[in-house]
Amino acid sequence: MNLEKNILDRFLRYTAVDTMSDSDAVAVRHPSTDGQMDLLRMLKKELLGLGVEDVVLDDNGIVCANIKASKEGLPSLGFMAHVDTASDCNGNQVKARVIESYQGDDIKLNSKITLDVAGNPELLKYKGETIIVTDGTSLLGADDKAGVAEIMAAIQLLMEDSSIEHGPIQVFFTSDEETGCGMDCFPMERFHSDACYTLDGGRRYCIESECFNAASVDLCFQGVPTHLGSAKSKMVNAVTMASAFVSALPQAESPEGTDSRDGYYCPYSMEGNTEQVTLHMVLRDFDYDRLLERIEVVKNLASVIEKMYKGGCVTAESKISYRNMFEACQKQPKAMDLLFAAGRNLKMPLFIEVIRGGTDGARLAEKGIPCPNIFTGGDNYHSLKEWAALPAMVDAVNLIVEIIRCWAKG
Ligand SMILES: [Zn+2]
Repeated sequence: MNLEKNILDRFLRYTAVDTMSDSDAVAVRHPSTDGQMDLLRMLKKELLGLGVEDVVLDDNGIVCANIKASKEGLPSLGFMAHVDTASDCNGNQVKARVIESYQGDDIKLNSKITLDVAGNPELLKYKGETIIVTDGTSLLGADDKAGVAEIMAAIQLLMEDSSIEHGPIQVFFTSDEETGCGMDCFPMERFHSDACYTLDGGRRYCIESECFNAASVDLCFQGVPTHLGSAKSKMVNAVTMASAFVSALPQAESPEGTDSRDGYYCPYSMEGNTEQVTLHMVLRDFDYDRLLERIEVVKNLASVIEKMYKGGCVTAESKISYRNMFEACQKQPKAMDLLFAAGRNLKMPLFIEVIRGGTDGARLAEKGIPCPNIFTGGDNYHSLKEWAALPAMVDAVNLIVEIIRCWAKG
């Protein structure tokens, strides 16, 4: 099989399906958009076509496929990717453009948008190679259709080459990851692997085993409204209260003021009037105890504001959204050890970075399943300048197969 062509054909086929997820609709339906179901049906059919016998597509939009072990007694492994694309910019009617033998120059996507080398030095690593861009009117969808294509190509290799020893392999294609609700309907009862690898990373060779701990806090500032003409000494303005609260947050600890391993407070959305203002906040920290401290800081500040504005009232409700997946990887180091062993066997210079966000894998890690995230070869995710490098995609497929081999050897 021509691996490059196989991956590229798959990738172009999958990116042509409109699968933008919808964070408003996800509250009432899974998956949130019909296009995701179209792609999931296509994947189910292709898996069956490859000879995988046990493939289920459930009503919530999750494909679960089980590939039988080649030999008894070997550990079971899962691989996971999501079919939806982000809604930060247009993600439908994707017109992918394949550039063979890229020359290392700026790429004019259309008359308005250029993918420039100065802003994207990573491009230079692929001089003479095949890269994929768009026409600048949509994102590409390498996040995460590159991951989907790579898992599919790896499964095809496994099905066609009986010399590869492996335990039971599970494949999960999920929907609505970008809405943060993708794992709400995950069929845990079908999951029975010792570890799971998500193919949802970016740059070549980058491995992620750590993500943020995340919480949200919903605040409500209740004022005392009066007619503005007779407001003196009576009115308590909820807008003023909420503004005072936001101004008192530490500016240095904001998303725009932090990077690498620093956590933050982010006032995310706010609406209301003089009577009542609601404020949605997100808090992030790699350290779970520090995340809990951040929640306390927000709640304490809320009560300070309440005391400052007599007659007004402030409530704050917090919720943990997801946990850092590092703990599960630490407790069961085999998942990372064998991933890096596979990388060494293939002479790939794998390196670790932390995710300043979450992944679907974090939700499995909460249940104690180690779930590292592997690069897919995509770049500039969630933007019109998203692009992907075919050689990196080929590497991801080879890495998946080598991981499977390493687990079989133990
Ligand atoms: Zn993704």
